[in-house]
Amino acid sequence: MRTQVVIVGAGPAGLMLGRLLQQAGIDAVIVERRSGDHVLSRIRAGVLEHGTAEVLRDLGLGARMEREGFVHDGVNLAFLGRRLHVDFADLVGRPVIIYGQTEVQHDLYDAMDDRDVPVVDEALDVTPHDVETTAPYVTYTRDGEERRVDCEWIAGCDGYHGVSRSVIPTDVLRTHERVYPFGWLGILSETPPVDDELIYANSERGFALCSMRHKMLSRYYVQCPLDTDTDDWPDDRFWEELRARLPDDVAAELVTGPSIEKSITPLRSFVAEPLRHGRLLLAGDAAHIVPPTGAKGLNLAVSDVVYLADALADHLSGGSTTGVDQYSESALLRVWKAVRFSWWMTTMMHRFPNASDDFDRKLQEAELTYLESSEHARRAFAENYTGLPFNPPS
Ligand SMILES: Cc1cc2nc3c(=O)[nH]c(=O)nc-3n(C[C@H](O)[C@H](O)[C@H](O)COP(=O)(O)OP(=O)(O)OC[C@H]3O[C@@H](n4cnc5c(N)ncnc54)[C@H](O)[C@@H]3O)c2cc1C
Repeated sequence: MRTQVVIVGAGPAGLMLGRLLQQAGIDAVIVERRSGDHVLSRIRAGVLEHGTAEVLRDLGLGARMEREGFVHDGVNLAFLGRRLHVDFADLVGRPVIIYGQTEVQHDLYDAMDDRDVPVVDEALDVTPHDVETTAPYVTYTRDGEERRVDCEWIAGCDGYHGVSRSVIPTDVLRTHERVYPFGWLGILSETPPVDDELIYANSERGFALCSMRHKMLSRYYVQCPLDTDTDDWPDDRFWEELRARLPDDVAAELVTGPSIEKSITPLRSFVAEPLRHGRLLLAGDAAHIVPPTGAKGLNLAVSDVVYLADALADHLSGGSTTGVDQYSESALLRVWKAVRFSWWMTTMMHRFPNASDDFDRKLQEAELTYLESSEHARRAFAENYTGLPFNPPS
């Protein structure tokens, strides 16, 4: 088989890139290790930045999001027993949209079917080859048969544990990492959300987040030690701990019920650079991950592929390499700003188990009360949370 771009991975980055390239008249094939059903059942992010929502609309994929998503004009930060509402509409004039990553994946998969972008699922041992030449190719095994796709570019959109990043020689790849000494224990429950908007809580007992997917589906998290076992957390224990971390008025409103999913997410900041090596280009979690506190992971995957699709379309339709040459630098400028915001919010909202005195706590309180007292600080928060512009990349 021959195509112009082989995309490794059918997560949001890979599928979105496929759709953007298809719109630009570029041929692509997506190869995915897991089954379509598996990919479509993963519960992950739920907050779409304003710019991400715009990209979905521009691609003709906004209809279900408009119908079923929820426009949120702000978020709440709870601390010292009170709540601060950060009003996005008032401060920056743009909202975020609550629409699950699972739903985005569904919409993108449907678009691939409609537009004939081939998605090869259950492709095993996917391997990029000859990325330092102008004739790279990808091999994989499906149904016991080895297959090969020749191409001009390979896009590594295969997530943090994917194969693409490992193709870049160790003396070229630089990595930057911060591992946080805690994780999030999360549950999904078919109960009404405790509030119309998200509540991020900083409490003496640790961080908590009240989030949602829709009117009868809530997503709640509590900060937990990294070695936490979900079996030790029956639902009753989870609800009790969540209540204890919320301001009294919020805890009183919490409607509990059986969980339908329970999982642990470790928190980590990680950036690999450069995003290009020869004819291999990395995007999304394959290149960087952020702790979910700032709701940036999915949104960064989208902004990367917007830059990448522009760059590839330029090269494959006109021959100019300027876009692909600048892709890594342009995308990373935005990535690092989101890494900073996610790190800052994580640091401000969590209890650090190894903090030896209350210095860090006092700094957290200073950060939070500063936000409370300063409209400038709230505006900077709102600008980052709702998403920095995609273009110009500065
Ligand atoms: C449990 C969890 C909770 C999260 N919660 C949030 C949140 O609340 N907010 C937020 O913003 N972000 C969250 N994230 C992060 C967000 O989901 C990711 O940033 C987003 O999925 C990145 O998209 P991606 O396409 O780059 O990578 P992925 O979604 O990881 O997709 C990569 C794809 O590549 C495939 N793949 C992997 N290896 C190979 C291979 N060798 N060959 C072929 N295919 C391969 C994978 O099966 C997968 O389909 C969460 C992530 C996890 C894991």
